[in-house]
Amino acid sequence: MTRLERLQARLEEPFLVTFGVNVLYLTGFDSSNAALLIEPDRVRLYTDFRYAEAAQDVPGVEFEPAKRNLFADLAERLEGRIAFEAHAVTYAAYETLAGGGLDLVPRRGVVEELRAVKDEDELELIRRAGRITSDAFERLSQEPFRGRTERELAWRLEQLFHELGADAAAFPTIVAAGPNGATPHAHARDEPVPEGTTVVIDAACSVGGYCSDCTRTFSTGELPGELRSAYELCLEAQEAGLDAVRDGVAGRDADAAARRIIEDGGHGEEFGHGLGHGLGLLVHEAPRLSQESEDVLAADNVVTVEPGIYLPGVGGIRIEDLVVVRDDGAEVLTPFTKQLVVVD
Ligand code: ZN
Ligand code: ZN
Repeated sequence: MTRLERLQARLEEPFLVTFGVNVLYLTGFDSSNAALLIEPDRVRLYTDFRYAEAAQDVPGVEFEPAKRNLFADLAERLEGRIAFEAHAVTYAAYETLAGGGLDLVPRRGVVEELRAVKDEDELELIRRAGRITSDAFERLSQEPFRGRTERELAWRLEQLFHELGADAAAFPTIVAAGPNGATPHAHARDEPVPEGTTVVIDAACSVGGYCSDCTRTFSTGELPGELRSAYELCLEAQEAGLDAVRDGVAGRDADAAARRIIEDGGHGEEFGHGLGHGLGLLVHEAPRLSQESEDVLAADNVVTVEPGIYLPGVGGIRIEDLVVVRDDGAEVLTPFTKQLVVVD
């Protein structure tokens, strides 16, 4: 079955897909202004003049030229009961659509649920992205850190991504030394990396539209005792999280397997985010591994496992692997060592 056919099998009413990533996933058509109207026996693709030529070549859909103001155009052309992507339509766009007198039914996460389970082609691209990311970390770890700024190291890692065959960085590389590493989503600064602390590096590349995601924490020499012991604790939690990942396990339970270890080590308060997230066309997608997650892991999900411990004013530690969920465990796509690497 094609992706569109799998979606058609689930329809309760005609479904309007307007989230660009979902249009891309379902049809291979990449546009900033497109909509699919999916019915059991036909699929219409609406987009404006800028994308018309490419739209004519999309297999399995009928192309309908539309105005630049897509929602206003759809409001005039469509009628009856239509489901829409409630999580991806702005309030303004909703008002425009509703102004056309449609009977609008909100649906959430319909295409995201399909996207969460990867096919072999998708897995192949993600494996390549993971391998490149892991190799880039390996190469960077052989270079000096001390004296170079966080931003220099971030750019160097992105350069390595390109040298190793990636299309782009999937998000701006995080390099956070010392106290800057105590912020989970730190920005790389123009500050030189000091001696005797941790350096958190969180980076991702994209290959063929699919992302990777990996974090390692390096040391620039003898660490303060609390950072050293927090590293060991974080690594133990990360491995427990990995061990918990398999088909059928609740995202909440995988999170708990890692969190319990950090809590027992006295750092529960300093692990303030979820254990991991799904990944594919986007860096963050379904399913989630967290205390609030309602998701259950399924074979061929791709997720991260990334506990962290953040000590304000001192430094941070995060260790993140990218894995494929299997019936019997997790296939790790980021094999670069997780033992503490001391860099120059
Ligand atoms: Zn990451
Ligand atoms: Zn991540």
